[in-house]
Amino acid sequence: MMNEKLANALNTQMVYELYSAYIYLGLAARLEKMKLPGMARWMRIQADEELIHADIFYAYLISQEHDVELDAMEKPDFSAIKTPIDSFRAALAHEESVTERINKEMAIALECGHFATVAFLNFFVTEQVEEERNPREIIEKLERAGNDERALLFLDAALAVRAPATRPAGAPAGSVTP
Ligand code: MG
Repeated sequence: MMNEKLANALNTQMVYELYSAYIYLGLAARLEKMKLPGMARWMRIQADEELIHADIFYAYLISQEHDVELDAMEKPDFSAIKTPIDSFRAALAHEESVTERINKEMAIALECGHFATVAFLNFFVTEQVEEERNPREIIEKLERAGNDERALLFLDAALAVRAPATRPAGAPAGSVTP
């Protein structure tokens, strides 16, 4: 069994993954308003991916015979999001906060000597590298596009082809995600 401190940390992370989906959904809506449906779709798919992450934490808590407890979520503030680059910078800042949390949970798992959780969290440690890299690469392209409307629309079309979210290869089992 995991001790309470570790189980609570993982439960908090499950809620934070749900909150991540909430953030991405909000960012998608901002991009819809900017008439950038490709970028909005990219954010919507990211929201779906966050639900998959939450499901993986849910399934792990259950498999470790721990209670799953839902919690209140803060209302996200999108008032500062006025341009596409603001949206992806907000996504990157959010992912950096996720990485920080995952690292703290890993430190707790190591401190407890709970190696099943260390193995479980390993996936998320690796996953966060990609989760930070994706928005960073888009930010770089948006910086290059600057005020060029054609470049912006080209990028919007490129992001529109993002494949629907599936459980990432090598991820721990979810409760419903195959
Ligand atoms: Mg996530």
